[in-house]
Amino acid sequence: MPKDSPDASLPFWRQNGARYYTLSSCYKREFGGIVRKISVDAHFSCPNIDGTVGRGGCVFCDAVSFSPSRRFGLDDIDAQIDDGIKQLRRRFDATKFIAYFQPSTNTHAPVETLEKAYRIALRRPEIVGLAIGTRPDALGDDVLDLLAEIAKEKRLSLEIGLQSSHDRTLKFLNRGHDYACFVDAVTRAKSRGLRLGTHLILGLPGETRDDMTLTGRRIAALGIDSVKLHHLYVVRNTALAKMWAQGLVPLPSLEEYAEEVVDVLETLSPETVVERVAGETSAEYLLAPDWTAIKHAGRNAVDVALRRRNSWQGKRFDPDFQDQP
Ligand code: SF4
Repeated sequence: MPKDSPDASLPFWRQNGARYYTLSSCYKREFGGIVRKISVDAHFSCPNIDGTVGRGGCVFCDAVSFSPSRRFGLDDIDAQIDDGIKQLRRRFDATKFIAYFQPSTNTHAPVETLEKAYRIALRRPEIVGLAIGTRPDALGDDVLDLLAEIAKEKRLSLEIGLQSSHDRTLKFLNRGHDYACFVDAVTRAKSRGLRLGTHLILGLPGETRDDMTLTGRRIAALGIDSVKLHHLYVVRNTALAKMWAQGLVPLPSLEEYAEEVVDVLETLSPETVVERVAGETSAEYLLAPDWTAIKHAGRNAVDVALRRRNSWQGKRFDPDFQDQP
């Protein structure tokens, strides 16, 4: 083999030197070009805020913006998609789009209302798929059946928030569900052939690097298709902000966070799409850490750590990992 030829035994994304499997390379492979996500707010509520499960919301969430008055306002979905298409066409020359039902819990409504909302997006020819953000306790069998039907028509990715696989951490976060609830939702969704993503937060108080690595191994063992990794950041008007002001929330440095990300990337399957390696929020609401407001700071630090450790996604992936409850 000539020295510079790609090694065909490597996953396709490693053949051009990448160290993890990004969403853009996944879309390029699947759709042959640029695909961008349009964030859609269908004004759904959240069971952890409206009293179905709890009222306080997760400690890091700005619950005010998800008040129950947001329910069932589907009228402007078309306008949001129009606006998103215009902007993303101009900025990225994109012609294909995924409608991303993002804020709050986008499966928390009667199944007829959900279908109406999703179909407003699906009928647009430029929309090649849906991404639906939700929590594991808002996925009844009727909702999963609907999603499985839609997945036969267009690409559908169901993003089930988890943040950590450790129940003591989920309690600290006031998530209102435990890890078993997540495993149950994943099992039922997988039995319907759904494509699943999840969100994890690294650097949570009380978690060691081994704890985070175990979460990565568990996600890999469950066969999750895509992952968004976020750092813990503090925004105004949250329970976390109060704890942080009292000095109760130690936050990892950028360099420490990058090491944690590499630990987790190493445990994932090479088939898992890594949609994000750090969180982002508006500087207007941010309290800490400062580097959150620096564009691509997290991503760049992860690239540096990957190179320094000569590491890549899947380096320590264990396909035979058995979870010990
Ligand atoms: S589940 Fe999501 S929307 Fe609901 S409180 Fe938690 S972070 Fe906020």
